[in-house]
Amino acid sequence: MEDCVFCKIINKEIPSDIVYEDEKVIAFKDINPATPIHILVIPKKHIATLLDVTEEDSILIAHIYQVINKIARENGFAENGFRIIANCGKDSGQEVMHIHFHILAGRKLGDKIV
Ligand code: 5GP
Ligand code: ZN
Repeated sequence: MEDCVFCKIINKEIPSDIVYEDEKVIAFKDINPATPIHILVIPKKHIATLLDVTEEDSILIAHIYQVINKIARENGFAENGFRIIANCGKDSGQEVMHIHFHILAGRKLGDKIV
């Protein structure tokens, strides 16, 4: 998608600090980290919101969770744990209309999600 900032990151039109990449997925450090480790995992396929995920994306979404596991192990925070957040729509504050999974780690997180 032309005007999508994350598609531009995928196409290397915007630089990012990439921590993982394969043919379907890319993961990079959030530009404004909320936690000591804050990584965004996104599919290379442009999907605007979680509401646009369909049955045909099932393997892709499962793959994203495998990638998250790999990143957690390879970056040394699997044992201490982490949190995944995926925002959808207005009330969640979703800013970028290309689905993304936030990996938050590197410190004790709040007991409550909100
Ligand atoms: P959202 O609020 O949509 O769930 O999260 C979007 C996230 O993308 C934010 O945490 C924001 O800091 C991050 N972000 C937005 N633009 C860029 C960018 O150009 N590069 C990187 N690395 N992160 C970005
Ligand atoms: Zn996109």
